[in-house]
Amino acid sequence: MKVLVINCGSSSLKFQLIDSESEECLAKGICERIGIDGGMITYAPQGGGKEKNPADMPDHTEAIRLVLEALTNPETGVVKSLDEIGAVGHRVVHGGEKFAESVVIDDNVLAAVEECNELAPLHNPANLIGINACKKLMPHTPMVGVFDTAFHQTMPEEAYMYGLPYEYYRKYKVRRYGFHGTSHSYVSKRAAEVLGRPYEELKTIVCHLGNGASVSAVKNGRCVDTSMGLTPLEGLIMGTRSGDIDPAIMEFIAHKEGKNIDQVMTVLNKESGVLGLSDRLSSDFRDLEESYDKNDANAIRAMKTYCYRVAKCVGAYVAAMNGVDVICFTAGIGENAPLVRTLVCGYLGYLGVELDQDANRRRGEDTVITTADSRTTVMVIPTNEELAIARETVRLAGC
Ligand code: ADP
Repeated sequence: MKVLVINCGSSSLKFQLIDSESEECLAKGICERIGIDGGMITYAPQGGGKEKNPADMPDHTEAIRLVLEALTNPETGVVKSLDEIGAVGHRVVHGGEKFAESVVIDDNVLAAVEECNELAPLHNPANLIGINACKKLMPHTPMVGVFDTAFHQTMPEEAYMYGLPYEYYRKYKVRRYGFHGTSHSYVSKRAAEVLGRPYEELKTIVCHLGNGASVSAVKNGRCVDTSMGLTPLEGLIMGTRSGDIDPAIMEFIAHKEGKNIDQVMTVLNKESGVLGLSDRLSSDFRDLEESYDKNDANAIRAMKTYCYRVAKCVGAYVAAMNGVDVICFTAGIGENAPLVRTLVCGYLGYLGVELDQDANRRRGEDTVITTADSRTTVMVIPTNEELAIARETVRLAGC
């Protein structure tokens, strides 16, 4: 069966068409600047050239119509008709406490997702628009929702509660939810598979280091802790997000700089992280690595602080699980930045971690990057959230 995977943002829409038997990506692409002037659709069929064309997309329905047109185009398309697409899998960012699993989307599910909107006001409304647009154009095709938060719903209370008045949880469900769950689940399972060890017997720490970044602790196949919280701002230092700070800094900066709460939140979300730490050098680790190699003080500060924070979080999860068997690096930085892995692993001598630098330089494949003598195994596992969504969609759409 062929599964269309949709990841819909407020002004962009990423898609992949995946053959569920071979698990190959038949075509993928992105619609950008939906609802804004200068719209653009990029389409790349398997084995063919990448096309990037201007496209007027006043709304998401039009964007999805163009995606379906590209997939069925007689020359560059990869299916003859839409009937070949057996199901659609949608990434949904926040499932609150309602969704501990992926679900087949019906009207009740749509209403429940909408109730989670206030927990992810930037993401969930866009996800819903994508689902509704797809339903309009493919009314008879089953749709499945796969939630970023679902994998973390197994966390125990002591891991997900904040030290705040309990009534905020009771009234507003203020608690840690965690994100990137599809990736944490995929990578932890894949690591067990590659090592040929039972998933249910392993203690795994996954470091998902991309623009957004989070670490999770997976014990015996269940997530027991993760570093992102009510929102994706908590935890690690990220590209432009601060991660954990003393909450009193918000009031301090508001007074000093004459900012209101929205402006302070913009600083924490968009002007902090390695971008802020490097004194605005860059939020991109390719730039930071290059400057680090040239002994640039701003890059060194950003890189060292970033890696120290990752290592501290790994240490916390070793404590949470009373040990660790495997540590995995994944996502843009985790997969591509050997320097970050070297600096983080430099703090893990107490776990007997011994890096194999040749393996650490390899790219794009599932790789053990520690030596045969290393007491703890460290791996690079390229994440594949789209494939994980396609698998869930096939499982639930029952085709
Ligand atoms: P997201 O999906 O959260 O947008 P990604 O997982 O794609 O992010 O990660 C993007 C980040 O990965 C970039 O900002 C960049 O810092 C980093 N990155 C990508 N390629 C490389 C590379 N070759 N070397 C170092 N860092 C890289």
